[in-house]
Amino acid sequence: MKHRNISLSNEEKDVCSSSGCSNSPKRSIPRKRVEKVGALSLQGSGRKVHLCSNCYRIFKKETKKDRTMESLGR
Ligand SMILES: [Zn+2]
Repeated sequence: MKHRNISLSNEEKDVCSSSGCSNSPKRSIPRKRVEKVGALSLQGSGRKVHLCSNCYRIFKKETKKDRTMESLGR
């Protein structure tokens, strides 16, 4: 007998993981990566966070900034 966790009713939230944001998520990203960037405050405790397009843009912008600094430092 197998117990399966079907993540439909419990886990699936149609809300962005950024706190205070209630848009519907577009992307799911490993939580660690988002925490590292630190541009967004997250709610929930899953291993993945779901970001709407707005918050994803913020996240992406911050990672890009990181990269630019890295390449400038050469
Ligand atoms: Zn959002």
